[in-house]
Amino acid sequence: ASDAVAAARESLAGLIGAAPREIFFTSGGTESDNWAIKGFARANAAKGRHIITSAIEHHAVLHTCQALEREGFEVTYLPVDEHGLVSVEDFKAAIRPDTILASIMFANNEIGTIEPVRQLAAAAHEANVVFHTDAVQAFGHEPIDVNELGIDMLSASSHKIYGPKGVGLLYVRRGVKLENLLDGGQQERGRRGSTENVPGIVGFARAAELAVDELAPEHNRQLALRDHAIRRILAEIPSAKLNGSWESRLANNVNFSFEFIEGEGMLLQLAARGICVSSGSACHRGKPSHVFAALGLSKQELMGVLRVSFGPDSTRRDAEALADALAEIQKNRIAVR
Ligand code: PLP
Repeated sequence: ASDAVAAARESLAGLIGAAPREIFFTSGGTESDNWAIKGFARANAAKGRHIITSAIEHHAVLHTCQALEREGFEVTYLPVDEHGLVSVEDFKAAIRPDTILASIMFANNEIGTIEPVRQLAAAAHEANVVFHTDAVQAFGHEPIDVNELGIDMLSASSHKIYGPKGVGLLYVRRGVKLENLLDGGQQERGRRGSTENVPGIVGFARAAELAVDELAPEHNRQLALRDHAIRRILAEIPSAKLNGSWESRLANNVNFSFEFIEGEGMLLQLAARGICVSSGSACHRGKPSHVFAALGLSKQELMGVLRVSFGPDSTRRDAEALADALAEIQKNRIAVR
């Protein structure tokens, strides 16, 4: 079992250009984000108590930052532009003498926008600020080399790449000091107590190897599907608006707002045609998600948000069926009005 965990650690490290001793196994993306941010802030509070993040992070980062605010840290939540991009200039301007850490996601889970991580990490380093990225949506989907990109800490999760649920990793660059989040036994070199999730860890490494082996062809294939679906939907449904950036976007993500039709209704009509998508996290109990609020969507646009994720099993026929179904639903809706 110990050899299997060591082999998994070595393999996962190699996939992102890290050393095996820089990889720590966790219970998932949420724990990795909590550990990176709380662990670093608490270990380095004597140097400063200011943290920079963005307004569109996953709650695993946002709620962690809010928890640190209750401990006396100060957090700047950077706004994003209409495509969901953090501005490097805004980022530089937010850095203060007491800034110790920046945490900006690699790619957003709702709108798929890929943030300018390389430039942000470089700007952080110029000011001696450590750079963490939540790469839960990007790991295994985008090429990532932590040294080339200048990433000091990175969170990833197994279940986003078809690995087992309940396992993830935190990459911590050698020399970056973190307090433990889970005190306990001597597992993970005394840095994270709790008996290792051996099947989870082994499955995670295998899923990551498969994802990275297929990354380039699969990325290009999904990109073509995505762009075909986006082009058809924009051409055939005049009220459709693409959310997030088109250029800097995950290959598997399509996210649209439609006027005149509610996301949940569209979801059900698509489900009846055998098409499984998500109404995004756009509205939760009638409240717009923080991501869409940060993009500045109108109330009407917020009601009709749809998120489509492509995967290895998605085909060109699926992309056509999606565009056909949406065009038909929209036409019927307008006819009823
Ligand atoms: N961060 C992002 C961007 C995510 O999309 C998710 C999961 O949806 C998480 C963190 C949390 O990961 P996990 O479910 O492995 O705790």
